[in-house]
Amino acid sequence: MNKQGIIIHNTKIFTEKNTFRGSLRIEGDIIAEIFKGEVPENILNKNQVIDASELWLLPGVIDTHVHFRETGLTEKADIETESKAALAGGVTSFIDMPNTIPPTTTLAALEMKQHLAEEKSWINYGFFLGATSDNLNELVQADPQKVAGIKMYVGLTTGNLVIDKDTVQKLMVSSPHLLVAHAEDDLVIQRNSAIYREKFGENIPFSYHSMIRSTEACYKSTAFLVEMAMRHHVRLHIAHVSTANELALFDGSKPLSEKQITAEGCIPYFWFDQRDYEQLGARIKSNPAIKTENDKKALLQALTTNKIDTIATDHAPHLLIEKAGNYFQTPSGIPSIQYSLPLMLELVRHGQVSIEKVVEKMCYAPATLFRIHRRGYIRKGFFADLVLVNPNDIWTITPETILSKCGWSPYEGVSLHAKVTHTFVNGVLQFENNKVIGNTKGKALSFNIK
Ligand SMILES: [Zn+2]
Repeated sequence: MNKQGIIIHNTKIFTEKNTFRGSLRIEGDIIAEIFKGEVPENILNKNQVIDASELWLLPGVIDTHVHFRETGLTEKADIETESKAALAGGVTSFIDMPNTIPPTTTLAALEMKQHLAEEKSWINYGFFLGATSDNLNELVQADPQKVAGIKMYVGLTTGNLVIDKDTVQKLMVSSPHLLVAHAEDDLVIQRNSAIYREKFGENIPFSYHSMIRSTEACYKSTAFLVEMAMRHHVRLHIAHVSTANELALFDGSKPLSEKQITAEGCIPYFWFDQRDYEQLGARIKSNPAIKTENDKKALLQALTTNKIDTIATDHAPHLLIEKAGNYFQTPSGIPSIQYSLPLMLELVRHGQVSIEKVVEKMCYAPATLFRIHRRGYIRKGFFADLVLVNPNDIWTITPETILSKCGWSPYEGVSLHAKVTHTFVNGVLQFENNKVIGNTKGKALSFNIK
């Protein structure tokens, strides 16, 4: 007999209103029914049943900050490999950054990426357009439903898509899209680089990265952007906040849907701190830099006070061989997506943040902020992007099990208690018990849907 759909049976279901024991029925690509308590026998018989009594059911994570490196940098990563790795991390949708080769700074480049993702992505996908000093005319023509927002690099980083303050001003006046900023002040970074180069030559110890890309560099740039955005009444999202000081620039008191200025926290900044440079060195060199233990604690606290609105990975793979150079040669970026949800659930276990906040910031908030159509929540009629997690399966991250193309992880050797057992994308089981399965691909995200 042909089964009507799939029932995820007798599990702990997390919704934005409450957490309860129940079951959920998927039909086609949609969440068809949610049952509190038992499911009637006649309904059970008509569906394929997955026993999830020992598991938790969460919405699929929407990771709004990734670098899948396609096109042009596919020796490091590509859409297919990284979207498969994402499945293991409980991630069912991604939004990719524009610093590829060529950069995503034209509508043609955006369309090319969308076509590639349509063919290759195992999860749902969306893209940012990058701002340059001369592409404003192009940016304003982009369809707001097809583009997640405009990424501004205010400060040099991988890809050199940097813009000056005049361009920022023009964007603030004319952009019809959400502005997302990488905020670090170049002059401060250049001054600090010169100081430490003088002291150490080319072989600056990696632990000095946080003194070069310093708190001052972050604060100065973020404060400038926040002030500009307030003055021009535009929506601004500050990517990967890395310092306690910047948190003073954000307001946690308003609901997310009413906020004009929002902030993103990324997993490496919740997990690592200054002390980890000694062992991991280049492996945790990222921009902005991983800062002190005090900063890390403040960032985690900001999830609870809502000064940080979303959690992303800033998944930014490089090859290990590239990470073998001296301080100045080594590119910045950390791969994280394969362990996304399990890492945050480990912090829950250690009492650093509540599970409700993790689900809010990884699933609901990205959907709300980017106004993504019918995703991010466990609600009847929404797309069935779902994750089952075993909260009590102790496992250790090892190099052999890495799915990301770069083949290494700064989290190697870390033991975690939560494991993603099943990942559904648009109702299709794509990942089950350590294996990528299924045969259907992700869909394009629709943004700015009221
Ligand atoms: Zn990034």
